Amino acid sequence: MRCLAQAGQEFRLTPWRSLVLPLTLTDAPAVIASGLSKAGFILDPDAALMAIAACSGAPACDRASRPSQEDARNFAVSLPPPPYEKPLLHVSGCAKGCAHPRAAPITLVAREGRYDVVLRYTATAPPDHLGLTVADAQTFLTKFFKTKGI
Ligand code: SF4
Repeated sequence: MRCLAQAGQEFRLTPWRSLVLPLTLTDAPAVIASGLSKAGFILDPDAALMAIAACSGAPACDRASRPSQEDARNFAVSLPPPPYEKPLLHVSGCAKGCAHPRAAPITLVAREGRYDVVLRYTATAPPDHLGLTVADAQTFLTKFFKTKGI
């Protein structure tokens, strides 16, 4: 926001952790696009991260067992190419499921530093697979999206 303010760029905040700018990114001055990118905003509407719902996770939330947003960025490479049913993947720091209370094709629920996997339901549902390491969860996602053809 400091970058936008310094550039004199009008913007709106949304309740969905996003900003609305009254211009297209192709028309945006490089300093704005670069500032937003450095701040972690997703600028490409077809980016795989747009198909992932992730809560604030650790360290922002005391209940979180994993840094769900950081993990989500790593898991994004396992998603199939766009277009996406949104979200394809829900990464939750605990079973509360704040980021996406509805069903997703895959929900990863952090517990004691690992991930339980819920298929086609919500974070509160009984898991289909228990206690995957981040590396194992990554492998699971790659196989799931490759074989199920979502
Ligand atoms: S789902 Fe759990 S870890 Fe994530 S923000 Fe909600 S309470 Fe915190």
